[in-house]
Amino acid sequence: MDHAKEQICSRVDAISNELIAISCFLKDNPETAYQEFKACAHLSGFLRKHGFDVETGIGEIETSFTARPSGFNQDRPTVALLAEYDALPLIGHGCGHNMIAAATIGAALALLPMVGDLTGSLAVVGTPAEEGGGGKIRLAEAGVFDDFDVAMMFHPGLLNLPGRDFLGRIRFKMEFFGKAAHPTGTPDHGRNALDAIVIAYTGMNALRQQLRPDGKIHGIITHGGEAPNIIPDYAAGVFYVRAGSREYRDEIFERVKRCAEGAALATETRVEISVELPNIDPIRRFPSLDAVVKSNMEALGVPVDEDDGRRGSSDIGNLSHYLPAIHPFLAIVDPESGIPGHSAGFCEATTSPKGVEVLLNASKMLALTAYDYLSSEMLRKRVAEEFKGTT
Ligand SMILES: [Zn+2]
Ligand SMILES: [Zn+2]
Repeated sequence: MDHAKEQICSRVDAISNELIAISCFLKDNPETAYQEFKACAHLSGFLRKHGFDVETGIGEIETSFTARPSGFNQDRPTVALLAEYDALPLIGHGCGHNMIAAATIGAALALLPMVGDLTGSLAVVGTPAEEGGGGKIRLAEAGVFDDFDVAMMFHPGLLNLPGRDFLGRIRFKMEFFGKAAHPTGTPDHGRNALDAIVIAYTGMNALRQQLRPDGKIHGIITHGGEAPNIIPDYAAGVFYVRAGSREYRDEIFERVKRCAEGAALATETRVEISVELPNIDPIRRFPSLDAVVKSNMEALGVPVDEDDGRRGSSDIGNLSHYLPAIHPFLAIVDPESGIPGHSAGFCEATTSPKGVEVLLNASKMLALTAYDYLSSEMLRKRVAEEFKGTT
């Protein structure tokens, strides 16, 4: 590591207690999508105190913010360091977004003394509602990322990965409307909505066999009638389809709709399908950025794991179609521990001794990667070409 990079790392170490305190504060005050008022106030207050001009409520989301170094123009290129801080219902920070916010703020503070000397600038962008709300999509649609050249964040996980593929996703509600009747007295008057959704569910199950490996369908039946002695006139479920490309995601969704239409035809019921959340796009990968992340992980002594091919979905996927973005993972639990993401155990791990070590490494990794991006015109050129080339 050269001298500048060593300085970045020692600045992260120097504020380690503050970063740990941020992570703990968020963990102790979990707030779900678009309700992150305490988090937004806490993080923006901290950044104001440490040399940033903060604007909250950007992109018409109350709990969002941008924090830019005070007293500097926002010269291009500008790196957006993303802070997530929303929690999950019931299990708090079971996805570890408390660590994401703390690591990002550490990276911004470690780079702050270099702003002015480096080409370009940086800002922290507080992005609410990753869990189900698609906060980054709303911010991007509002033009918040038009002022940025690259977006960087980290996510705690089960493996150390410079990047990984994410699946595109559509979440939708399926409702069947039939006709209630007495099941023995007047069964011939009834049109059974529960039967309809069961047939649709079975149809989707059959469809699964004909999907490519990246195609996924999953969901639950949420409503199946009122009483066993009434033929149900209403049934409903919530489902996801996912796939590795937008095209394939949309194609599976069309085929699932036909499962529902077939079930409606067979049962003489009516079906309505409504998309519930913004559609999530698969992430675009930028090999030259992944390579820089990987070399910074190695420089920090973080062993890089083999990708096991397990994939989720995130609104960083949509964002990566607006501007180059990275979403590396650092492991806070052992994959063999049986602790999955989105669990109380994972939440606990975010502030364990391992979690604290990872928080500091994540902060350094982000700061070093942003530093590399701002210091190397060649890297910026390559990233821009990759972004253009794959659009
Ligand atoms: Zn999550
Ligand atoms: Zn997450």
